[in-house]
Amino acid sequence: MPTFWNKQIERADYLAAEASGSRELLAFYAQLLRAQEWIYESLRSRKDWLPSGELESDMDVVQLSMTALLETVALHGPTSLASEAQVLLVAESNTMIDEMLEYWRNPSDTQFFAKSILQPYARWLTETKTTPVGRELAGGERACPFCGGRPQLSFLQSKESSAESGNRDLLCATCLSSWEFRRVVCANCGEERPSKLGYFHSPEFDHIRIEACDSCQHYIKGIDLTRFGHAVPLVDEIYAAPLDLWAREHGYTKIELNLVGL
Ligand SMILES: [Zn+2]
Ligand SMILES: [Zn+2]
Repeated sequence: MPTFWNKQIERADYLAAEASGSRELLAFYAQLLRAQEWIYESLRSRKDWLPSGELESDMDVVQLSMTALLETVALHGPTSLASEAQVLLVAESNTMIDEMLEYWRNPSDTQFFAKSILQPYARWLTETKTTPVGRELAGGERACPFCGGRPQLSFLQSKESSAESGNRDLLCATCLSSWEFRRVVCANCGEERPSKLGYFHSPEFDHIRIEACDSCQHYIKGIDLTRFGHAVPLVDEIYAAPLDLWAREHGYTKIELNLVGL
């Protein structure tokens, strides 16, 4: 059984090797995923340690593995991120620690480094069933029931228990777990009127669509695993980067930017 991280990495390597407009983004993402897997493994394999769910107390351990990710970004990242990583590598470790604590309390999708480092930490919390604490988040059905994070993407998959053609789930941008969500509802504002919800896709990405809402002008990408079962939502979402450009040109804002900043 491939692990969660291996599955993402393999898919990113595969898609990066295909000639397409998002090749460079995927090549970078593949390296970033490797650094995240390394963080995850160092947390998981640490002897006599389990997370408390309170980042402040877990920080002693979490900060041990952050340098490797910064080095990866300095080496493989796009120019602006790479130079930010260089700065963080020589800065006091407190700088990065403060960023992580701030992200934990009040996440923002523009805090690239904190989000990248804390995804594997939060994922380890889900797997050890450790409740995250100290997060001041809104809650409700449009937030992750485990950690309160915002949705990164939605995906449709067949579930045997259901007679419908597919159930819709949202995938959390922080802990990367998913939760069931109603099919025809805006994941940002809860709009339910079909006339306000639009779906757009291009033949180039047959299993991926933009799910846009005209009430709040936000969008999210939906990955349809019933059309293409080999897709890996987090990675395929990045692969379909041209759809983000389309959505932006049409005045929509993404609910949560992904790790390549789209
Ligand atoms: Zn979550
Ligand atoms: Zn909306």
